[in-house]
Amino acid sequence: MDWRQIGMTLWFTGLSGAGKTTISQAVEKELRLKGCKVEILDGDIVRQNLTKGLGFSREDRDENIRRIGFVANLLTRNQVIVLVSAISPYQEIRNEVRQRIGNFIEVYVNAPLEVCEQRDVKGLYKKARAGVIKNFTGIDDPYEPPINPEVECRTDKESLEQSVAKVIAQLAHLGSKLAS
Ligand code: ADP
Repeated sequence: MDWRQIGMTLWFTGLSGAGKTTISQAVEKELRLKGCKVEILDGDIVRQNLTKGLGFSREDRDENIRRIGFVANLLTRNQVIVLVSAISPYQEIRNEVRQRIGNFIEVYVNAPLEVCEQRDVKGLYKKARAGVIKNFTGIDDPYEPPINPEVECRTDKESLEQSVAKVIAQLAHLGSKLAS
């Protein structure tokens, strides 16, 4: 068996606009070309379905992550490579899902707040600055950076291709250890 048959959760965490969705979609494409079974759990889509109705208090954010973690665990134990893309601002709950899933790679998608705000992909920073949106991560809500992520992508300094290559290399490295 090689690493492509090992179930694994790749957990992309970072500020809004840091590049989680962009990198995870590019990683998905690459993994499919390699013949892997892949599933994406993207925060924005999950919040319209699995966790519809939850808000942005710490309690609701933690519940959102717990439910995503639950599904990621089911898929991971069935040899799927799961790509989770969610801000997931709190270290404690990220550690909780890491413990539960086991085969877990934390990918810190890191760009300075100023860069994310300048990109403002969805126009949300503008709204948060104007006070139209409350509890926006990085503006008036906390983000706790990972302490020991398996991968860090500095999307303000490296290209998308470089970030994708780093993620796949770490997946192959850790997956191969589990496969042997
Ligand atoms: P998130 O999912 O973290 O909210 P998105 O992926 O939706 O972020 O948006 C990130 C934006 O940053 C996209 O417009 C993307 O094209 C841009 N970007 C610029 N450089 C990079 C990079 N190196 N990696 C990923 N995204 C990048």
